Amino acid sequence: MPKAFITGITGQDGQHLAEFLHSKGYQVFGMLKGQNNPRAIQFRDEFPYVELVPGDLADLPSLVSALDQVQPDEVYNLGAISFVAISFNQAELTSNITGLGVLRMLEAVRMVGGTQNNPIRFYQASSSEMFGQVREIPQNELTPFHPRSPYGCAKVFGHNITVNYRESYGIYACSGILFNHEGPRRGLEFVTRKITNTAARIKLGIDKELVMGNLDAKRDWGYAGDYVRAMWLMLQQDQPDDYVVATGETHSIEEFLTLAFEEAGLGDWRNFVRQDPKFFRPAEVDLLIGDPTKAQKKLGWTREVDFAGLVKMMVRHDLESEASRAKR
Ligand code: NAP
Repeated sequence: MPKAFITGITGQDGQHLAEFLHSKGYQVFGMLKGQNNPRAIQFRDEFPYVELVPGDLADLPSLVSALDQVQPDEVYNLGAISFVAISFNQAELTSNITGLGVLRMLEAVRMVGGTQNNPIRFYQASSSEMFGQVREIPQNELTPFHPRSPYGCAKVFGHNITVNYRESYGIYACSGILFNHEGPRRGLEFVTRKITNTAARIKLGIDKELVMGNLDAKRDWGYAGDYVRAMWLMLQQDQPDDYVVATGETHSIEEFLTLAFEEAGLGDWRNFVRQDPKFFRPAEVDLLIGDPTKAQKKLGWTREVDFAGLVKMMVRHDLESEASRAKR
């Protein structure tokens, strides 16, 4: 039975990946940070087959000890301070966890797997935010980076150090440059989930309005369940490499709002949405659109859920979960 070790197990992608790898017959281990992590109880209930191992991306000895205990075949480094807006306020913490955390994880792989013919395969969760102020449209694996946030800067470091460890030490290390991917497990702080959850709450009479930042930003949005499949495929190839994973389509926040409010049965979103400059980013990334050709050709990866399907899935989930919470 192959063994997979996942950092960021309690996050959106960690949950999807755990489910996917379990269905593939893996023994799944997840790294849990903190002495009393608030997400642990619910996580254990939902994922009884995942063995939780303590560790923190800020602490190299804990990573070495976790890998030593598990002896994994595959390591997926999904742990990060992942919310761009927070990274402006907590730039040092973001650099430490999202950036230096990758170096620590790679060092742990090198120390536990050995310097010759290291058997551990490593996946790094890179991000389209590395493209920031885009140099070309669409963005592919060779597009230069111009990050526009401390989060994007930290991800550029994580990406480069992953490539460097592959080239310097022969580690099987891949970097997946994933464009935005969402779903019902997305954190409530992220704009897509904030929209679908608030639309559901307005429909149920719990909230009255939705307060938003920039409505002009455009993103290439896919479904998280489709994207974790690409992570796994990257680690099954003969040679390690880097891949853009995206839909190749871009949609504005306004389009997302239109579909979400229609699906919730609320009609025109303009009747419920107020803009507040407080939610604008100090520097915006305006037009992210990825070119997934390499992932499609080399990995045989394709997405199964389209943009409209994604928005509907999220709204339906939030209508159901908010209604059952209201009854309790
Ligand atoms: P997420 O839901 O925000 O999850 C982040 C995870 O990182 C959580 O499990 C969190 O644990 C963990 N974490 C935070 N600080 C940590 C630390 N010091 N040590 C160990 N773990 C720590 O993020 P996601 O959406 O699943 O994304 C997964 C990865 O893909 C992230 O690296 C993200 O930056 C990257 N990415 C995401 C997208 C996207 O659209 N979702 C796109 C490109 C790249 P706690 O719950 O305990 O805080």
